[in-house]
Amino acid sequence: MRLISRSDLFLLVGLTAALFTIISRPLGRVLDAAHEIDQDLGLQLLPGLVILAVVFVFHQIRKRHESRAEALAAAADARQATARAAEMERLVGLSQALGQALTHDAIGAATAAHLPAIAEGRPAWVMVWNGVEWRRLAVHGDVPLDACEEAARRATGGPRADDGPDAVCFPMFAAGRPVGVLGVSPNPPVPEHQRAVLAAAAALLGASLKNAELFHEVRETSVRDSLTGCFNRQHALEVMDAELRRARRSRLPLAVIMFDLDHFKAINDQYGHLCGDAVLAGVGQRMKVVLRGSDVKCRWGGEEFLVLLPDTPPAGAQRVAELLRHDLEEHPARWRVGDLQVDIRVTASFGLATVTAGEVDATAILARADAALYRAKSSGRNCVCVAGESVEVTPPGGR
Ligand code: GH3
Ligand code: MG
Ligand code: MG
Repeated sequence: MRLISRSDLFLLVGLTAALFTIISRPLGRVLDAAHEIDQDLGLQLLPGLVILAVVFVFHQIRKRHESRAEALAAAADARQATARAAEMERLVGLSQALGQALTHDAIGAATAAHLPAIAEGRPAWVMVWNGVEWRRLAVHGDVPLDACEEAARRATGGPRADDGPDAVCFPMFAAGRPVGVLGVSPNPPVPEHQRAVLAAAAALLGASLKNAELFHEVRETSVRDSLTGCFNRQHALEVMDAELRRARRSRLPLAVIMFDLDHFKAINDQYGHLCGDAVLAGVGQRMKVVLRGSDVKCRWGGEEFLVLLPDTPPAGAQRVAELLRHDLEEHPARWRVGDLQVDIRVTASFGLATVTAGEVDATAILARADAALYRAKSSGRNCVCVAGESVEVTPPGGR
């Protein structure tokens, strides 16, 4: 604690005057003695001492100023280091969250959670480009969607930050391709160190989006049949188990359709395997057109397909099977033979099984659908048979 501060100048002057009064006599004697020594020895002791004292005082004052400036600089450095450490911590938080996000939606959730900290409270948003359109991944603050889209479109011209009137934009790249934009409000102006953080966050987001894309591709190739676009048999079994458990929990109906193309070997024999492949691909496309997005479309093997119809009662499933049977019959695949375009007509035989309440044995259900399909084949093909029924639902030619 300081005893005397600048504001106590009056007190200091008073104390000095009092001290001088107290020691004026002894001081006078000391000065006289010094004077005598000067004369005896031929010295200039007093002026020398005065000069020394003044120089010493000035030196001390300068040293004090210097150390105060050093202390201030050290405090500023410490504050900056703390701020940089906090920025680094925020970036690490974002990168850890993104590291665990393997889907687009998960990246959106991680970004939304970390955006306020990364943007240090400024209104901020992230727009992503999927090759066709802009989509908003996350937003913090009240920023209209069209303003984000407008700024994002403008900012994707180059790799550097773009200072627009409504937003400072940091483009996101993945494998050299623009994939999105991170934008923040330009008010108050964004300082250099914050720009570095935002640019790093944009780079992290770009890499995460690319990761998610690759993960999606790998997953798709592992679960899908490339020829028809349907799920493969392995995935069909996994989905069927999950759907059976869901149906038991929700007590909603579930139906299984198994169908097999009729006399498909003859198409291969007559037009070749490439033509057979084109027919199979066409069947995959028709399934996409006719069936709902929530229906699970699978290639069970060769020219045999399986469809799971969640939340579909028996009568509805029967209508769907009939619709698909009719649609396949009506939509031949086109195949070029020499200069001619040939329509390759194909029909299919269908077996339909519905899941009874609480049933979870996929093998038993598949066996029922397979038996119904076998009956459809033996009943003349191009028809739908329901498991457990003794007569086929749609006899050939009975449409
Ligand atoms: P059915 O009406 O009794 O089902 O007669 P089918 O000729 O359709 O049945 P079959 O089992 O005799 O022949 C199926 C054919 O499907 C034989 C096989 O070579 C062909 N096949 C299986 N997978 C593919 C494929 O991926 N591409 C092509 N082009 N043909 C395939
Ligand atoms: Mg067949
Ligand atoms: Mg077959």
